[in-house]
Amino acid sequence: MSLQKQEQAEKKYDPRDKTLKFVDRGDDLDPVSSDFSSLRAEMSCGHAVTPDSLTHWCRSQLDEGNYKFRCPAVIEGTTQCNKLWSYQEVRRLADLTAEEIKYFEETMARLAAAEYSEVQQCPQCKTCVERKDLSNLCVKCIICTTKQKTYNFCWQCQRQWKGPGPRSDRCGNDGCINKDLKLLQTCESISLPEVTGVTSCPSVRACPVCGMKVEHNRQFCKNIRCPRCHVEFCFVCLKRKSKCCKTSSPYQICPSGVAPRQTSIPVWKK
Ligand SMILES: [Zn+2]
Ligand SMILES: [Zn+2]
Ligand SMILES: [Zn+2]
Ligand SMILES: [Zn+2]
Ligand SMILES: [Zn+2]
Repeated sequence: MSLQKQEQAEKKYDPRDKTLKFVDRGDDLDPVSSDFSSLRAEMSCGHAVTPDSLTHWCRSQLDEGNYKFRCPAVIEGTTQCNKLWSYQEVRRLADLTAEEIKYFEETMARLAAAEYSEVQQCPQCKTCVERKDLSNLCVKCIICTTKQKTYNFCWQCQRQWKGPGPRSDRCGNDGCINKDLKLLQTCESISLPEVTGVTSCPSVRACPVCGMKVEHNRQFCKNIRCPRCHVEFCFVCLKRKSKCCKTSSPYQICPSGVAPRQTSIPVWKK
């Protein structure tokens, strides 16, 4: 499943490739065995990479939730080049395999979608409004707000804001509910057959880091990896895996027991 686990031959540029601009042929180029493994090519910013170094860097960026790739080369002291690389040049110069392309493009699309979801239309004037404070559902539309009157709408139910704000759960309008929160509260309970002592645990949890809804497939240990932020956490006590594993094994219930159903959804602080 994981690409990292696959044995992959080291990637190399083809030195005859006229579309690439090579920096040098490396010190350890062996003309006898034609080892061009250290052949480096220039990115658009002028800094040189190898297919492996570029793949590795961009993958680490995706793991951290960044889908825009910037050159990490140090130019002076601690100042980085920081120039934006296009995905096209990354794909080309990292010599991404078909499987890597699939992984990169899916991850980038997912990260971009998560970012853009924080923009939606004002229910009254239909202009796009960006929500900056992700923990507040009460959002002001600056177009609809006049000198006399502030216009706030509810991010969740798309109606004019009612009641006191800021609030993260709902506004005062009838029927304004957070469907995800409701699911966390009402989902069925499951057991984790392979984890000793876990007989009743909510089947859906919100990732403690980014808030994404996650389910446990009831197989293997209690830890799971969030598909969005990639943090590993314990489905039972909701602590990070690194913290939980200090006090119990992955196949045993945690000393603090099964964490209660969540009453709020964590906001991802990127
Ligand atoms: Zn650069
Ligand atoms: Zn408006
Ligand atoms: Zn509402
Ligand atoms: Zn997460
Ligand atoms: Zn735990």
